[in-house]
Amino acid sequence: MEDSLFTKIRKGDIPGKIVYEDDLCFAIEDINPQAPVHILIIPIKEIEKVSDASEKDINLLGHLLHVSKKIAHDHSLENNYRLIINNGAGAGQSVFHIHVHLLGGRSLDWPPG
Ligand code: AMP
Repeated sequence: MEDSLFTKIRKGDIPGKIVYEDDLCFAIEDINPQAPVHILIIPIKEIEKVSDASEKDINLLGHLLHVSKKIAHDHSLENNYRLIINNGAGAGQSVFHIHVHLLGGRSLDWPPG
C-alpha cells in the first residue's frame, strides 16, 4: 500500500515541518493554516479515519489527545484552543490518515461550518 501524504512527510519523502515526534505519533505544521497555530497530530499507524479505528487503538487515540495538549501548552495556548478531527469526506476530511487539528492563537467561533 502506498504511504499516506503524512507518512511521506514523516519519512522525509516530501517536504513538511515536523514539530514533534515520539514512538506512536508525530506532528506537523499545516500547509494551509486556519489560525496562527495550526498543527496536525498524526499517529504513525495509518488508520484512515476515526470510524475505522478499533478497540486496540484506544490507547493510541488517547495518546493523540495527550500530545495535542502538550503541544498546545508549548505554544502557550493553555485555555484557548480547539481540537478537530474530520471523519469522512462529507465532514471535510481530505487526507485519509487520522489527524487531530490543533487550532489556536485567535478567537474561534462556534459552531464551525
Ligand atoms: P482534513 O481536511 O481534515 O483531512 O485535513 C487535512 C489537512 O492537511 C488540511 O488542513 C491541509 O491543509 C493539510 N495538508 C495538506 N497537504 C499538506 C502538506 N503537504 N503539509 C502539511 N499539511 C497539509
